[in-house]
Amino acid sequence: MKSPDMPKALVIGGSLGGLFAATALRAIGWHVDVFERSPVAMDSRGGGIVLQADVVRHFGYAGIKPAHALGVRSHDRLYLDRDGAIVHKEPMPQTQTSWNTLYNALSGAFPAEHYHRGKTLVDLVQNEHRVTAMFEDGSSADADLLIGADGAGSTVRNLVLPGTDFTYSGYVVWRGLVDERELPDFAKSQLYEDFVFQQDPESLMLEYMVPGLDGSVDPGRRRFNWLWYLKAAPGPELDAVLTDNTGHRRSHSIPPGALAIGQDAYIRQRGEQQANPAFRELIRQTQDIFVQAILDLKVPRMVFGRGLLTGDAAFVPRPHTAGSTAKAARNALSLAQAIDDIGDLDKALLVWQQQQLAEGSRMGDWGVSMGNRIMGIVPS
Ligand SMILES: Cc1cc2nc3c(=O)[nH]c(=O)nc-3n(C[C@H](O)[C@H](O)[C@H](O)COP(=O)(O)OP(=O)(O)OC[C@H]3O[C@@H](n4cnc5c(N)ncnc54)[C@H](O)[C@@H]3O)c2cc1C
Repeated sequence: MKSPDMPKALVIGGSLGGLFAATALRAIGWHVDVFERSPVAMDSRGGGIVLQADVVRHFGYAGIKPAHALGVRSHDRLYLDRDGAIVHKEPMPQTQTSWNTLYNALSGAFPAEHYHRGKTLVDLVQNEHRVTAMFEDGSSADADLLIGADGAGSTVRNLVLPGTDFTYSGYVVWRGLVDERELPDFAKSQLYEDFVFQQDPESLMLEYMVPGLDGSVDPGRRRFNWLWYLKAAPGPELDAVLTDNTGHRRSHSIPPGALAIGQDAYIRQRGEQQANPAFRELIRQTQDIFVQAILDLKVPRMVFGRGLLTGDAAFVPRPHTAGSTAKAARNALSLAQAIDDIGDLDKALLVWQQQQLAEGSRMGDWGVSMGNRIMGIVPS
């Protein structure tokens, strides 16, 4: 938008969804400030992500030029049985990246003085043209537009759409990352640069390679990323999984380094019993296993006057779609394009909402049916 008075946006949440929105709006000349609850840098958070074309398109639009290639290529899809024998193999080239690779590229392209850490949104008020965000520390900020990019447990969503919360799918995903050089040669040769699965009843393990923590994609400096989907019944079983090593019951995930000792032992022991030899080695070599509950979330609206919801704050599709990050990138890119093309902000928001709602809903339904089929869940 070629507005002489430079409109301003507040982005709540400084993870991938927030930074996609912030960098896309800056590309059309907006002033943007990002407010992130975490007081510390988040560059070691998260695991592998399948790199989709929408992320690359967003980077092009926002003029982001990462220092390294964004991902590691895999060539074939392999399905292994419990003994490690190949039961199916098909060529399917694709690229895998990681949360920290995308985060570092996005945050490197956004001015540090406009990225505010340790800022937790607690309330917002708005009139026809302005919105004001209030933070836990007593400070406030106001702008033409507020973007809720604060994830599945979104405070923005709770304020604008009370009562709309995520639901638990019935299963969780255990995850880990292993430096390429830590894995014994026999496992490396089976997993190397391929997308590898082991599917059993009510269980799906998978692995692919991602860039190193420093973003390197050079052989010897990358990481193996693994995931293992397993059921955990709501109630005591799920409570035990989501209770961290200080005894605190977290809402839907335990980050690396915070898994309770008993849960760490449980998943390692299951790995010894159920995983094929290469995956068993991956689990053994993982220093900090982490776990996330698989959630479902769909909102009926994404625009609330001068506030909107984006990324996981609006829709959480199952990870089998491998498309949530691409969805957050698309949300952001389409928003900037709609504002730039239409000019009138309120009209642009409504056009944007119509497209993004349809797409979020479609992706959500597809993910639920795929996930339930994989995990043998019959919806009640
Ligand atoms: C198991 C698993 C596998 C996945 N694999 C893939 C994949 O292969 N491909 C893919 O595309 N996506 C994948 N995803 C999803 C992907 O990680 C997210 O969709 C994407 O990162 C967008 O998230 P977000 O930024 O909207 O939310 P989040 O990453 O949850 O970030 C929200 C941010 O808001 C901050 N925040 C929260 N509340 C407040 C507040 N009140 N005030 C200020 N800040 C606040 C939080 O600290 C956080 O930094 C996967 C997810 C899971 C669980």
